[in-house]
Amino acid sequence: MIPSDLKYLVVGAGLWGGVLAERIASELGVRVLVIEKRDHIGGNCHSAVDPATGIECHVYGTHIFHTSIPRVWDYIRKFTEFTSYRHKVLTEHKGRVYPMPIGLATINMFYGLNLRPGEVADFIRREAAKGADADKPPANLEEKAVSLIGRPLYEAFIKGYTWKQWEKDPRELPAGIITRLPVRCNYNCDYFDDPWQGMPLRGYAALFTALFGHPLIEVRTGVSWVDVAGRVPPSCTVLYSGPLDELFGYSLGGLEWRGLRFERETLPCPDAQGTSVLNQADVEIPWTRSHEFKHLHPERGPQGDSTVVAREYSRTCTPGDEPYYPVNTPQNQALLDKYRARLAAEAPNITAGGRLGGYRYLDMDKTIDDALGVFERLRAAHGERGV
Ligand code: UDP
Repeated sequence: MIPSDLKYLVVGAGLWGGVLAERIASELGVRVLVIEKRDHIGGNCHSAVDPATGIECHVYGTHIFHTSIPRVWDYIRKFTEFTSYRHKVLTEHKGRVYPMPIGLATINMFYGLNLRPGEVADFIRREAAKGADADKPPANLEEKAVSLIGRPLYEAFIKGYTWKQWEKDPRELPAGIITRLPVRCNYNCDYFDDPWQGMPLRGYAALFTALFGHPLIEVRTGVSWVDVAGRVPPSCTVLYSGPLDELFGYSLGGLEWRGLRFERETLPCPDAQGTSVLNQADVEIPWTRSHEFKHLHPERGPQGDSTVVAREYSRTCTPGDEPYYPVNTPQNQALLDKYRARLAAEAPNITAGGRLGGYRYLDMDKTIDDALGVFERLRAAHGERGV
């Protein structure tokens, strides 16, 4: 099943594996075999057209492409054009809808004020000082959030959502998770600050078909690492983007992951929520957010009289579930370090990466950037071997 002269095996047909397979095939001119345990390529970016409505649905939740990294933007546009979509998120709290992330519109609506941009920083500083020890650097997500926005905004928009998403007290979570969200002193309601944003014009499926389209790439779906593990020649370089704990049969214990569950519904109205992503800040509402996919592509027009909405529920990931988010606690980090040490000592021909293989909360652009970096190291090694 695995050719004895195979030089490169990519495990996982997501973004990290796709970029590496494409670079190896195009730049090194060498054959690459890609195995993928699911029945489709694209990893969690995968989208499929709903046959009843014709609406492109993001099967694993909304994926927006956004980046500030020039080499990533130059690279990905070889495989797709992007629309000019800029993502905006709204969040519902106690029956009212506010822009997210927190900016001037959210602050003024929440407090019933009309602060000007120049007044926000002082206002927030006073609010934050009420709930935090100014001399102590924030040690966790809650302290970080309170230092950025003050306790009332934290309790309204962050605390409940974070509990639902992570099922952990925000005081047990690292501050880094919340620094993903900007806090703004103006009416800019964009979710991301990156200069380059958009949706693949013809959808994610077309993007991945192009990425894996090189004639030197062979993709086999429905094949997992365990199906081939004992049969990979030692001279073959393996680029592994599955979970690192799975690679070692969970022998040191399981890394903790968050999973997601989506409840999808087709509704007999042209527009159900008026926006692509609507967060639910309150713990009384069990889902974290709902996705109405047609709004991701306004350039496609009204797209019929019905619409598809998916409610997203966060949950603990048990064996057999799809892992989505690493849980970056000190305990998981310590276990990760042990698995990494084993990888280096026992499997020098395997490089693990991507969100699952690296156990990192990576956006799409960071995943591409990481894969491009890995490829540069591979290219150097390939040159030295004179293959
Ligand atoms: N978050 C929040 N309220 C929101 C949106 C996000 O508290 O309305 C926090 C929450 O802790 C979450 C983190 O910000 O885990 C990052 O959110 P993001 O939307 O970036 O997550 P992703 O889209 O990657 O799932």
